Amino acid sequence: PAAAAVQPPRQFKLDPQSELRVEVLPDATLRVRLVSGTAEIFGTELPPEGWLTIPPRSKIAIFTWHGATVELDGVSESEYTSDETPMVIYVNTHAILDARRARARAAQGGDLEASQGPRVIVVGPTDSGKSTLCKMLLSWAAKLGWKPTYVDLDIGQGSITIPGCISATPIEKPIDIVDGIPLEMPLAYFYGHPNPSINPDVYKALMRELAQTLETQFSGNAESRAAGMVINTMGWVEGLGYELLLNAIEIFKANVVLVLGQEKLWKMLKDAVQSKPNIDVVKLHKSEGVVLRNSKYRQKTRSFRIKEYFYGIANDLAPHSNVVNFSDVSVFRIGSGHQAPRSALPIGAEPVADPTRLVAVNISTDMVHTVLAVSYAKEPDGIISSNVAGFIHVTDVDIQRRS
Ligand code: ADP
Repeated sequence: PAAAAVQPPRQFKLDPQSELRVEVLPDATLRVRLVSGTAEIFGTELPPEGWLTIPPRSKIAIFTWHGATVELDGVSESEYTSDETPMVIYVNTHAILDARRARARAAQGGDLEASQGPRVIVVGPTDSGKSTLCKMLLSWAAKLGWKPTYVDLDIGQGSITIPGCISATPIEKPIDIVDGIPLEMPLAYFYGHPNPSINPDVYKALMRELAQTLETQFSGNAESRAAGMVINTMGWVEGLGYELLLNAIEIFKANVVLVLGQEKLWKMLKDAVQSKPNIDVVKLHKSEGVVLRNSKYRQKTRSFRIKEYFYGIANDLAPHSNVVNFSDVSVFRIGSGHQAPRSALPIGAEPVADPTRLVAVNISTDMVHTVLAVSYAKEPDGIISSNVAGFIHVTDVDIQRRS
């Protein structure tokens, strides 16, 4: 294997509208360079000069509209070219959204409805390329000078901050190929688990809070209002997952629903919103390049996302440790978790768990290796409606010293 791991630098000549698909190994870096022509990675153009270091584990496509030669240096897990991509359909979708943004801007000062740009929600099963399509639509819009808002409702594989959050951030320039979504101004709400079925009521409540905050921001900012939103969703599209998608469409007042790779879901959503003439439900092809990831891989990705939050993508951040006394912090959990036992209730009463109830948590060694969010709330009652300032990793709990 040591010998096989050596790969000399190699060049690929790409025909117009074709792409080079590359998977980077978990523990090796891969460099990419544009030799001639123009090419982009998920909507962001490769710089004309110099090498880009693609982070470990990335799965990318280097796509060219007009032809290009690119060079790879380093070891990869796989690399191949393909001229079958849905990129033309995707860019046409972008063009339609762009026209709607222009129309919204022209209606500024007029009625609120007309000055609202497209609110696009991207839905589809896991590994249909939702996050990737979101990135492309955002980067293409930003390249034209729009500042669309990216909303990520995927608590399992979100791309804005750590897993377990729903969040939003304005995208002011094409998304950086290496650094990803900018993290200067994210608005994040902490759900605390990668699975919405643990407490769907809290998931819904957080969506409502996020939507309301964005609504307020839009009402004071015609530019973001006209640019609209691109909303990424979870890959869970059946049962409760489907219900939550319908909730998201309603809560964020989405007016364009892009359905990736599933005819059945497209049909169901189309029927579900047919009474609302101002919502377009559009079916789009999935790219064959999208890499399938099993649940173990997803689990690993989540751990890496948390590590990245603390240490940086390029391992260039240094988290700082702090010792705090029990008396200086209050820890809460949302949702009572367990239902009250029947025996504790008056005869005839049904046990109900209050899904959005705030529960004070006693600090114990159980908390070691958990991640806590720091809330902006001034009072405990405000926790569920507040976004978070950041995250803390609990590395140790000293019961004796109460710290
Ligand atoms: P979803 O959001 O639907 O789960 P993603 O957009 O995250 O799917 O895509 C899954 C993986 O496939 C990601 O790692 C992404 O970078 C990769 N990917 C998407 N499109 C392509 C492509 N055309 N070529 C190579 N890899 C791709």
